[in-house]
Amino acid sequence: MASSPFIIVAIDGGAASGKSSSSRTLSDRFNLLHVDTGSFYRAVTADLMRRKVNPTDLGAVKAALCELSFGTRVQGLSAQMEIGGRVAGDEIRSREVNEHVSHFSAIPEVRAALLNYQRSQADVARRHHFRGLVMEGRDIGSVIFPDADFRFFLHADPTERARRRASEGHHDQIAERDRLDSSRKTAPLACPAGAVSIDTTHQTLPEVVETMARAIAARLGDA
Ligand code: C5P
Repeated sequence: MASSPFIIVAIDGGAASGKSSSSRTLSDRFNLLHVDTGSFYRAVTADLMRRKVNPTDLGAVKAALCELSFGTRVQGLSAQMEIGGRVAGDEIRSREVNEHVSHFSAIPEVRAALLNYQRSQADVARRHHFRGLVMEGRDIGSVIFPDADFRFFLHADPTERARRRASEGHHDQIAERDRLDSSRKTAPLACPAGAVSIDTTHQTLPEVVETMARAIAARLGDA
């Protein structure tokens, strides 16, 4: 019997659009490495903020980026970014990081520093014998893995997204982050041509996941 293929699932969308919940569920269901690239941008932002780097000072940003060395720790089903051998903690979800992350992630040099690192997560998944990876972010289906086996773009009504984030107890100006993420010149948040667009406003998580899982199960040859 032919072995099932290694698959890459790209899930993009704005803040609180349902990416994290659905990608975690798919990771668990199909044994795919879960890679949350938002946590990578957050970890880099927290590190640069600790170094007192201002996002408007490109020279300082570039100098600091040169000092960062990235690694990956696989914890359960998920890829955790190490910077200088350390995995960041809850500080990457702080109000300060929420306020700054979109400013740092709009800088082309920051995105370039993370490009190959993000792609290399496929090798991490292979080494750890996953059946593939599910990567969530803003530009996965457009820039990181434009040839991914599956490219989904999730969106939801802004009021519903704000309600979801508040119910998680987070202070997060998601509308402002989305505005910055969508309007930046490099790799803006947008539904890439050919991706499957899913409106999650009035759908439950199981309904959203089912749409994606049906297609993935067929490709993997799962019953
Ligand atoms: O997914 P999350 O909301 O945690 O992402 C935090 C921020 O990281 C986003 O608002 C965006 O500025 C940046 N990001 C990005 N590209 C990605 C993932 C996240 O620019 N692929």
